[in-house]
Amino acid sequence: MDENKDHLEQRCPRLGGQVSFGYCRMSTDDGSACWKIFDCWWEYFDVVEYLKKHLPEEQFNALASARPQPKMASLVDLIQQAKKRTAGGNR
Ligand code: SF4
Repeated sequence: MDENKDHLEQRCPRLGGQVSFGYCRMSTDDGSACWKIFDCWWEYFDVVEYLKKHLPEEQFNALASARPQPKMASLVDLIQQAKKRTAGGNR
């Protein structure tokens, strides 16, 4: 089975043109993966599992922790913060 995904292409939301997965995998100055790689590629294949398998553990963990929170989670966080502020203001 051909596991190499580098040839896959899609439109990059940051650059506005077609890029390959191989580019995304090495697009930073130090040759590591773009921080949006999970969000951009999850619809095409299991990018999390793929990178987990192909990246050194510390690189994968750094990438996973750099991943932006989904908008819904951020919204829930904001609501919880607002509730805490309101509860704190009633003392
Ligand atoms: S992972 Fe980065 S470089 Fe690749 S398509 Fe997404 S934003 Fe563009």
